Amino acid sequence: MTDTIVALATPLGRSGIGVIRLSGPDSLSIARTLANKNDSFIPRVAHLTELVYPASSETIDDTLVTFFKAPHSFTGEDVVEISCHGSPIVLRQVIDICLARGARLAEPGEFSLRALANGRMDLAEAEAVRDLIDAQTVTAARQAVRQLRGEFSHELKPIKDDLLDVIVVLESALEFVEDDLPDTQATSISAKLVSIREKLDKIASTYEVGHLIREGLRVAIVGRPNVGKSSLFNALLGSDRAIVTEIAGTTRDQLHEKLTIGDIPISLIDTAGLRETSDTVETIGVERSRRAMADADIVIVLLDVSETITDADREIMSGVSELQHLVAINKIDKVSESLIRSLGELRSEFPDSDAVAVSAKTGEGLDALKNAIVQPFRSLEGSATGFLVSDARHHDRLLRAASDIDQSINSLTNKMSEEIVLIGLHNALRSLGQITGETTTEDMLTRIFSTFCIGK
Ligand code: GDP
Repeated sequence: MTDTIVALATPLGRSGIGVIRLSGPDSLSIARTLANKNDSFIPRVAHLTELVYPASSETIDDTLVTFFKAPHSFTGEDVVEISCHGSPIVLRQVIDICLARGARLAEPGEFSLRALANGRMDLAEAEAVRDLIDAQTVTAARQAVRQLRGEFSHELKPIKDDLLDVIVVLESALEFVEDDLPDTQATSISAKLVSIREKLDKIASTYEVGHLIREGLRVAIVGRPNVGKSSLFNALLGSDRAIVTEIAGTTRDQLHEKLTIGDIPISLIDTAGLRETSDTVETIGVERSRRAMADADIVIVLLDVSETITDADREIMSGVSELQHLVAINKIDKVSESLIRSLGELRSEFPDSDAVAVSAKTGEGLDALKNAIVQPFRSLEGSATGFLVSDARHHDRLLRAASDIDQSINSLTNKMSEEIVLIGLHNALRSLGQITGETTTEDMLTRIFSTFCIGK
């Protein structure tokens, strides 16, 4: 028997409305206690309801209560949504009363997990809810909605069916045929497997664009101390700072800040979190740049136009030669003569690099720099039609299934027994099932749903 869970479904803090959601067998009775009335809430009708303290009958708030009767709810269980005024005090009190009446605070993603357990959605769809909420751009939101509507499962279905057909043929051969598979049959099975493998490849190949649209680009600004990295970092973030700003996650001593350029989410890797001390030698800047570069999709090498190019600049430039990079020459507001001199010098030193002239101080050239950052990825983005795989987990499962099928094709070619061929095919089917959740283990679910936030 499942218990009843409660959570704030809207963000913490003051707002116009705050929604509390209950799911589980006691949802309705808890709502009745709060409303101090026994009349039933008609399912799927919003009821203007005064909530009261059970002990004193004193009013807590005037709210809208909507009851969704199982199984016609998000989770498939009895669900009650209470829209209060968005006062953190009121919301806290209502949640406390729900807890006192036997509900329990929901774990992250627990509403979606219940929806999955009750067959209201498959795993890929539940993950799409998370992705839709987390989407940083319109394109990413659109892709999440497609997945939410079951497109991924729809794409996978014929592939799984084909795979099952082959499995059935092999299993029955194992059962009923005494000798090896006749060559003609082996050839036809092999052809089917190759075609399944191609379909999987085609879906998996959409990940490059899907990932870009969902996660965006990681951009690092590198350069020796004082060229203006932090100034440029702040200038780029400026007004384009993404609406969704994460509590800065730190990886390898770095901070990531989000912004969007066009419709591409950008994660700017801040190497400035570690400030140099006054006696820092330049090599520290070089070392720090190296670390930032390792994590980036594109590296901006920043140079200072008002100073001559140093060995440290050259060392950083040589470090990025193999990476996707561009050069930005900062502080062009400073002196125009030296700009002309330095640009000439730069061109002769680094003839293969495109350079954009900017001023982090005045904002000059920033638009050109932003264009240059996303330019190499524009063509990718243009191919973003149709369904795209955007989740690393899904991509990984697709690749795994493809490699399992490869093994089976090999075994078949090498005239191994049907049992051996079948191992790969069953593994492939299991990997595909893990995308939509049919063959997902408890552990995996816990891991996946821990990436959800509370109230989802
Ligand atoms: P970092 O060490 O590379 O992060 O460099 P900072 O961003 O701390 O900048 C070093 C110094 O250069 C500071 O005094 C900034 O005010 C100055 N600075 C940075 N960008 C510009 C610019 O575009 N123009 C001018 N005139 N000064 C700048």
